[in-house]
Amino acid sequence: MGAMGQITVKLPDGTPLELAADATGAEAAAAIGPGLARAALAIRAGGELRDLSASLADGEEISIITDRDPEALELIRHDAAHVMAEAVVDLYPGTKVTIGPPIESGFYYDFEFPPETRVSDDDLARIEEAMRAHIKADESFERRDIPAAEAIELFREQGQDYKVELIEDLVRDEGTETVSLYRNGPFEDLCRGPHGPSTGRIKALKLSSLAGAYWRGDENRQMLTRIYGTAFFSKADLEAHLERIEQAKARDHRRLGPELGIFMLREEAPGMPFWLPNGTVLLRLIEAEVREQLRRRGYVEIATPQVLDEELWHRSGHWENYRDDMYFMDSDDRRFALRPMNCPGACLVFGSQRHSYRELPLRMAEFGRVSRNEREGVLHGLLRVRAFTQDDAHVYCTEDQIADEVIDICEAIDELYARFGFTDVRVELSTRPEKAMGTEEQWAKAEAALTEALERQGREYQINPGDGAFYGPKIDFHVTDALGRSWQCGTCQLDFQMPERFELSYTGADDKPHRPVMIHRALLGSMERFAGILIEHYAGRFPDWLAPVQAIVLPVTDRNADYGREVRDRLAEAGVRVTIDERSESVGKKIRAAELGRYPYMLVVGDREQEAGAIAVRSHDEGELGALGVEEFAARLGASPDAG
Ligand SMILES: [Zn+2]
Ligand SMILES: [Zn+2]
Repeated sequence: MGAMGQITVKLPDGTPLELAADATGAEAAAAIGPGLARAALAIRAGGELRDLSASLADGEEISIITDRDPEALELIRHDAAHVMAEAVVDLYPGTKVTIGPPIESGFYYDFEFPPETRVSDDDLARIEEAMRAHIKADESFERRDIPAAEAIELFREQGQDYKVELIEDLVRDEGTETVSLYRNGPFEDLCRGPHGPSTGRIKALKLSSLAGAYWRGDENRQMLTRIYGTAFFSKADLEAHLERIEQAKARDHRRLGPELGIFMLREEAPGMPFWLPNGTVLLRLIEAEVREQLRRRGYVEIATPQVLDEELWHRSGHWENYRDDMYFMDSDDRRFALRPMNCPGACLVFGSQRHSYRELPLRMAEFGRVSRNEREGVLHGLLRVRAFTQDDAHVYCTEDQIADEVIDICEAIDELYARFGFTDVRVELSTRPEKAMGTEEQWAKAEAALTEALERQGREYQINPGDGAFYGPKIDFHVTDALGRSWQCGTCQLDFQMPERFELSYTGADDKPHRPVMIHRALLGSMERFAGILIEHYAGRFPDWLAPVQAIVLPVTDRNADYGREVRDRLAEAGVRVTIDERSESVGKKIRAAELGRYPYMLVVGDREQEAGAIAVRSHDEGELGALGVEEFAARLGASPDAG
């Protein structure tokens, strides 16, 4: 404590700042400078984010939060959620408010509208307008702390039953005695805070959509109306955000997939995609790239059953840890499970033979189809499904070989991702979770081995404490797509447990049996999910080598159709993936249709081309390439008769 009636706080650069004894964050900002006082939104003090109006304590480290800080957007979005509730309660008297947090790209608030009140997308503009009025009025956020019992009484009188329930739970579960309320304008909400100083800090605002949401996510409770929105510090930032959303929509694989004949989803099998002809080609092309890695890196490939006796899943530990996500079935008085993972099958293969230390590391790959009983609510196109194919492999090795094997897997991932146009690969190391099999010592050893592999490569990585699989720590690989979005793909997981459970062994140089270590790894993760990511990354316009159909032949008139078919056959013979538009339509119409089909090449054949035995080539990327010979074009594409 400094002089009487004074405190000293520390600024981020270590400079001490003397303030009056009950100074607030706002006063601290003003003491530093008038510009900062105007820009201040909140204060970080003693490690937590607080209102500017909160008092500071002696000795605290403080930093003033302005719109340049990463926490700032979240703060004004939370402000905006209150403003939305304020506007909604005003526009729709009798509305019950629940909760309204900031989320990654904005905020939402869940409401129970009065019976008979229908609110739709058409009403969002009206709510937005009411919000703008409150923002223009620059209402200050004022906090007060009152006894929980008093708050319950207050909200009960207002008919705000959800708030009453929230406070009653706080009292019962956490022994809360005092709760905080935040008022802006006429609206007062139960809230922990913090908030910005006033509504005027919200500079740009957009309400985006409505959705149904159960109170507390419980389907037995009231269905509420959730309104989503977002807020920014400038109109330009909001516009850039909306532009990104538009781009993402245009690339949405759930729309492009069916449009381009890649896949479809049906009510008859939720979460289990149907692969259409173009999609099947795409999957085979992706698979070929993975196989190339397997071939060069000394893998063998196996294929094991999808339906296995339940007993096996008890042995593997999956039943204990994973049964809620598994499909079971009864047949011939036996109980079977559809495999959610391929590992137990691989262990049966390894265990079926004697192995010498000379065979290790033994790398066994499997394109393994797995099924997981995900809740219907979380399913999302190809990105979250119930049935998919892992480009899986299990590497059996000694402890000394782990680091080298992990490095080899990382290299395979780098090469493979680069081939698909992803060069920005982010790595995360996840460590022991609460629900884990095995001893502390095994976990420590496994985590050390993964860390060593990453360090030896000089890779940057992020650590996710407690996020490992139940059987071992793991490394996850994330790619960044053309819109800057991050997707988790590959994984590399160490496992000391399963070899134990399946009593796997190899004969060492000492002629004695030893337990191998098992590495589970997938380069792409789910083949189908990766295809979905590729569709969005390329917006359905795949590079020449990856396009399911590389070229479409467009006969100018019906009399050129025979020649068109001949061109198609010769190209197919040469290894080009090619189709033909034989409809009796104008060539202009065919070109527009082909444009929508996103073929890399259109091959126009009219009388002139027919006479010359040529094709007029139009490349999507390079425009008109003029007349080429049929085989000349195939060679240009790098086609080979064995490919595809
Ligand atoms: Zn709040
Ligand atoms: Zn596995």
